[in-house]
Amino acid sequence: MLRIPCPFCGPRDHSEFSYLGDATVTRPEAEAPLDEWFGYVYLRDNPRGRHREHWHHAQGCRQWLVVERDTLTHEILGALPAREGSPAAGPAAGKDAAE
Ligand SMILES: [Zn+2]
Repeated sequence: MLRIPCPFCGPRDHSEFSYLGDATVTRPEAEAPLDEWFGYVYLRDNPRGRHREHWHHAQGCRQWLVVERDTLTHEILGALPAREGSPAAGPAAGKDAAE
């Protein structure tokens, strides 16, 4: 069982959350080439180790979070409100472990 430390509600069971996906991808500019958009929409890494993911606290405060999780051990390393944990807010964790 995963316990996610929601910054608004405190530690909660992961069953209260909905997983959205990779929080390290950034949306291309509207005029970006089609292959860049294809990568944004369809292509994802399958990282091994630390990774940032979007989770929605659907059965709690209904806030979007960026959760840092180790994909090998499932250890939760932290959680931030999504507006503070976007790729623009800092370097993406997990990219080092995946390479
Ligand atoms: Zn919450």
